[in-house]
Amino acid sequence: MGYAVLSTWKMSFNGALIAGEVLKNGGTPLEAIKAGINDVENNPDYLSVGYGGLPNREGEVELDAAIMDGSTGLFGGIMGVKGIANPIDVALDLSQKRLNCLLCGTGAEKYARLKGFEFKNMLTEKAKKQWEEQEIKNNDAESLVSYNGHDTVSFVARQGTFLAAGVSTSGIFLKVPGRVGDSPIVGGGLYSDSEAGAAAATGDGEDILRGCLSYEIVRQMESGKTAMEACETTLCNHLKKMNRKGLKIGPVSLIALDADGGFGAATSLNEFAFIYTDNSTPPAVWIAGAKTGVVKATGERLSQYTRD
Ligand code: ASP
Repeated sequence: MGYAVLSTWKMSFNGALIAGEVLKNGGTPLEAIKAGINDVENNPDYLSVGYGGLPNREGEVELDAAIMDGSTGLFGGIMGVKGIANPIDVALDLSQKRLNCLLCGTGAEKYARLKGFEFKNMLTEKAKKQWEEQEIKNNDAESLVSYNGHDTVSFVARQGTFLAAGVSTSGIFLKVPGRVGDSPIVGGGLYSDSEAGAAAATGDGEDILRGCLSYEIVRQMESGKTAMEACETTLCNHLKKMNRKGLKIGPVSLIALDADGGFGAATSLNEFAFIYTDNSTPPAVWIAGAKTGVVKATGERLSQYTRD
């Protein structure tokens, strides 16, 4: 089996290209995910990840990231950190450890400093301006419309039979300081098991955590479903269950690679764009839709599709 990269949102197009190159040159899926996510983290135009990410309601950028090695079962993650230039790098470093591999806040920052990771002011003028405008209108983060500034860059990648998953995000815009979503939580925002598959999520983290959706997708793949079937079944069951409980679910989008070479995606949105590339196909934008299923974006549809 060759290599493959699957990543969330159009903002990850260039990152997927870079990750594909890493794999083409024999790199591991962990190295590919790091390189792909770094590209998004470093781009100040993307308002939901790394440098340029939108701040919490007190105007501070708090970042989450995690990575999971599907061959060893090791994972690393950091959450609610300030000033770390590339959170995924620290997560990757932590994923070498069996214990003390998921760190939060000041403890995570102290670790990153001791290890010599780069720190910088992650709040750009553009993000600050958006915060100032929203802050005046909106003192209640609960009433913010989704996609008014949150999307996680999530990657799943394969090199042969080796699978991995990784994520990086600034979380929900105007979140309560200290709030953590699904992204750095193994089983919620990501999960990888090379024997079964790898999955990752983006959307309202609390809704994703309520169903441990990444773990559930991998569990479905382990019991024989393809990545596509596992994503669809997991989302559909979750939506039905939450509905029975009287809970209205916000945006949730899921991606997965199975151990047999397939990929899948599902969303509660009308449209969710993701990128797929493998050893025989260059990176392309695909669109999953709650009603339309999964299709490759082409021609007019691609040019009309502007939202990340
Ligand atoms: N899942 C992220 C969080 O809840 C946000 C997103 O993906 O849009 O923090």
